[in-house]
Amino acid sequence: MPFGEIAGNPEGTSYADRAAVRAAGVHPPLQAGIAGSAKTGAESIVVSGGYEDDDDYGDLIIYTGAGGRGGVGGPQIEDQKLEGPNLALARSCVEALPVRVVRGARGEAAFRPPTGYRYDGLYLVTRYWKEPGQAGHLVCRYELRKILSDGSLSPVPPAAQPPGPPPRARLTTERVVRTTAVVRRVKELHGNRCQVCGTAIKTPTDGYAEGAHIRPLGRPHDGPDVEANVLCLCPNDHARFDYGAIVLTDTLEIRDALQGTSLGQLRTAQGHSVDPRFVRYHREHFSA
Ligand SMILES: [Zn+2]
Repeated sequence: MPFGEIAGNPEGTSYADRAAVRAAGVHPPLQAGIAGSAKTGAESIVVSGGYEDDDDYGDLIIYTGAGGRGGVGGPQIEDQKLEGPNLALARSCVEALPVRVVRGARGEAAFRPPTGYRYDGLYLVTRYWKEPGQAGHLVCRYELRKILSDGSLSPVPPAAQPPGPPPRARLTTERVVRTTAVVRRVKELHGNRCQVCGTAIKTPTDGYAEGAHIRPLGRPHDGPDVEANVLCLCPNDHARFDYGAIVLTDTLEIRDALQGTSLGQLRTAQGHSVDPRFVRYHREHFSA
């Protein structure tokens, strides 16, 4: 499966129907909205207004994963899982693979083609999470941002502008490691020792650890910058935590979300306690 632009199909190319999109190699499946596999990542998506939870802002799309519906176009009847095509899009995020976006005529009025389908260029999946959809069941959500010809990301459209810290406009999915006064304090309390594995990385200046906001700051998660919402982690465990490979139970037991095994109890430090409400939020929104 080819990633990136397909020769002979520049941005703006129109197609009469899904069969034509498929024949061009721009989006092979005839029905599925996501093309790709969990192993390789997703090469393309179709945005056609099929999901009530999709939000199309043009250069920024909040796209909903597949599955959990009672038939094509039906309402959400169960939780979506981060597997199959949904895992493919998550992989595209982690590996920063470009995703071809095709819009259909039933999509958002401001951005849809008048008829049929149109190839609208390459996008980058900049984040993903799970949240309750309009029908109340968990859906997988993906933020996709348009990649410009110079390789940078298009600015976030005003309508999609979050009230929180401005998003980064770089072609990378490198996670933001935020250092706030609260983070510094938590790292101090733990002496830069990772609360998951106990590693304390020594550096010539002092030590190195990262502060992980359990419920992330900014839209759409709006977690608070308070000590009870911060963990002191090594970079490896920080990445595993952010991507949902490890989660915490309400009693702060560390679980390997992939193996389903226990990794023991979260390490504590005098003066720092973690609020189980944030831990629950993380578990519900980021575990596989
Ligand atoms: Zn660690």
